[in-house]
This record gives sequence, C-alpha cells and structure tokens, in this order.
Amino acid sequence: MLIRTTIALLILVSPGVAVAKLNVFACEPEWAALALEIGASQVVAFSATTALQDPHYIQARPSLIAKVRRADLVICSGAELEIGWLPALLRKANNRDVLPGKSGYMEASRFVDRLDATGSVDRSKGDIHPQGNPHIQINPHNVAAVAEALGERMRVLDPDNASLYETNLADFLARWADAIEGWETKAQPLRGKKAVTHHKSWVYLERWLGIEEVANLEAVPGLPPTASHLSKLTRRFANGGADFIVRSPYQDDRPSEWLSEKVGIPHLILPLTVGGTDEAQDLFSLFDNIVDRLLQVAHHE
Ligand SMILES: [Zn+2]
Repeated sequence: MLIRTTIALLILVSPGVAVAKLNVFACEPEWAALALEIGASQVVAFSATTALQDPHYIQARPSLIAKVRRADLVICSGAELEIGWLPALLRKANNRDVLPGKSGYMEASRFVDRLDATGSVDRSKGDIHPQGNPHIQINPHNVAAVAEALGERMRVLDPDNASLYETNLADFLARWADAIEGWETKAQPLRGKKAVTHHKSWVYLERWLGIEEVANLEAVPGLPPTASHLSKLTRRFANGGADFIVRSPYQDDRPSEWLSEKVGIPHLILPLTVGGTDEAQDLFSLFDNIVDRLLQVAHHE
C-alpha cells in the first residue's frame, strides 16, 4: 500500500516521465542488500542465490537468464566463486551492458585484499579458488570498500540520481563505521579462539576478529567431508586444540555434529550472508548475529 502510494506520488510530481529504476542483479544476497542501502527506492535489487544455497553451485535457470537480460548492473563476489554458473547466465542473457569489462559488470572481490591466492588452477583439488578466497563479505571492512566502489558505479550508470547515491553512501558508511567499532569491541573475547570450519568460508572473518582456523571438515575444499578425514580430526582434537566448529546454514550438519560429540566442543551455524539465520535480516544484523553467536559458544567453555 505504502509502495503504491509512493509510486502514485512520483508520477504526479513528474508527469510524463517514467520512473526508471536501476535494475541490479546480484549473485549473492549481501550485494543486493548493499545496493539497496545505497540506492534505496531508486534501485530494484535481486539476488540469484539465497543464504540457504551454496553459491558455488546453482543452476543457470531460465528465470535467472531473464533477470540478467533486464539488468543494468550485475554484481557478484567474483574470484571464480560463480564460475560454475555465471558465465552461462551472461552468455544466454545476451545483454552486452553487463558483460565483464563493461560498467554494468562488477566483481566485488576486486576491491579488497584477497586471502589465500595460490595461482594454481588444479581443479582436482576442489574449488580451491586460485584467485584467492572469494568469500570476502564476511569482513565488514571489505563491505565498506565494496560499498564505495558500488556507489561510484551506480553514479556512472544512473547519473540523474548521482547525488542520491552519494548521500546514501555517505550515510551508510558513517553508520557502518560506528557499527564496526561496536562489533570489534564486543568481539574482543574471541581473539585467539581456535575454530574448525566446514568449508574455507570464514577466513576473512577470522582474520578480522583474530580467530585461528585450525582445521576444515572438508579434506578437499568443495568436496564433502570424508569419514577418514573426520576420524583423523577426532584423534587430533581429542585432547583440546579447538574451541568450536562452524558451518553455514546450507552445509550438511552431520559432520560437525559428529565431531562435536566425539571431542566435546560446541558446533554452531553462522550466517554467511543476509538471510542465513532468522536474526540476520540486513547487513547490520548479519554481523550483530555472527558476533553474538560466536560469543555464545565462546562463553560456554
Ligand atoms: Zn569456496
């Protein structure tokens, strides 16, 4: 109802002028959320994946192709996270404005320091991410860097609304900086904690909060944990050496529950992006929830 009234008003104040919105196609929910922070009602943002899907592997469905065809801007994490499906989407959508190299195409990971770049392209080692770890959104400083680049891109693509994007971006960055300070203060007790993680999804979070990653449940990145690797971990952590086990909402819960029971340390789900838990409803509550959930298990010892 409110939306309908707003549209009616816009049409009234600008008769004859169509209200063209900036159409943003995001590969992951965090970038759709960020586009909305900066563009507000001037932007229509859609995410190809939800927080409950593994962004490495989705189908290039016809409905997604249609969305890319209509997009003004495609924003993805990049660093080959979407290599299994995004190239097919771009090819089939046949929208020249959003191809790599055009201003309508943006890889968020280009604007941050990527961790774990190996340069190796041996796919037999799983989704090893030779261009560096693509799960960059899980450090709020990275989100700020991407926000600046995204704001600039939106001004280029939609110059009529440049001042709106500029104002919203400045407002977001100010609130974001305050929030980061709060999270960093609150998360102090997490420094030096040792984490076992399912996939290597959390390296930016760990670097940010001073958490040490001591093992992964996946023996080979991107392939399901094996029984032999899990029993190796059981022996290794039988007498301590790890504080908790982390997985994303879309990952199989059995390996972390099994190890948790065997070695007697807590396991938890952390949202990897917006929508990953009931509490993580936007970028701010995403990091609120991550810090809260980690503190809960850290205090449990
Ligand atoms: Zn990955």
